[in-house]
Amino acid sequence: MVLIGLGEEFDRINGSENAIFAESEMTAQNLKWIIPAFRSYDASKEAVERREKMQKSLGNLAELLGKKNYYILSVSQSKMISKTKWREGRLVMPCGCVRKKQCENGCEDEVLELTKEEEAEIVRAFENFEKASGEVKDFLRGDAEHVPPEVRMAMKMIQKKEAVGGAVKGLENDLRKILGKCERCGGDMVFNVLQATKYDEKGYLKDWDHYAKWLYGSMSRNLVVIELGTAESYPSLFQSAFEKITSLNPKASHFALGAENFENAIDWLTKLC
Ligand SMILES: [Zn+2]
Repeated sequence: MVLIGLGEEFDRINGSENAIFAESEMTAQNLKWIIPAFRSYDASKEAVERREKMQKSLGNLAELLGKKNYYILSVSQSKMISKTKWREGRLVMPCGCVRKKQCENGCEDEVLELTKEEEAEIVRAFENFEKASGEVKDFLRGDAEHVPPEVRMAMKMIQKKEAVGGAVKGLENDLRKILGKCERCGGDMVFNVLQATKYDEKGYLKDWDHYAKWLYGSMSRNLVVIELGTAESYPSLFQSAFEKITSLNPKASHFALGAENFENAIDWLTKLC
């Protein structure tokens, strides 16, 4: 049996100035529920390239695991992990996933999977956001040469913040339109992620029960536990939980390729098959 923990490194922020501005604006505008989607849909060239590489690696991993008796426990909320062709019912995402939506007010109706059309529209919304947030007006005309460099830099930052702030508002409008309204209370739907004001855990609880049973069934069996791209943020799900599992089962072994080895782990995964 194989248990694989996929960590938050799969959702690492794109380190560009634009992305950092964008996420700080999302936090400032009380739109934290958009952040995991931004990390999954960010349309900038570097973010797209990084995701393509990881998506390929995950595909290789799924192929290698094949029909083995495995389980994937992911704190990443990303589209690519949910889209990878794992065995049916062998993935649990306790922090939610950007491919599901829920009522913003936490109404107890279904957590819904996004349709293909909704996903395609979300891709377009983030492409528009990428264009809009990149547009910074050129103020360096006319007398601007006489502006001292530090003032010039500060002005540029202010303009950048304004441009990104406006783009985040546009993105919020687009996403709310795409995700639609709750049928019960008429409130807006948001992504079913931990960052939602009222996170609806129904999105993963059924999978969690299944995972817990699977784990219980591993107790006296040969078990390999592998952590990929996990940091210290979720010890109760990964580090302490996995150590406990392996200490109780003499036939279990535990390997961790944590955050600091993440790029190596991805290279290694890419070459697997
Ligand atoms: Zn509602």
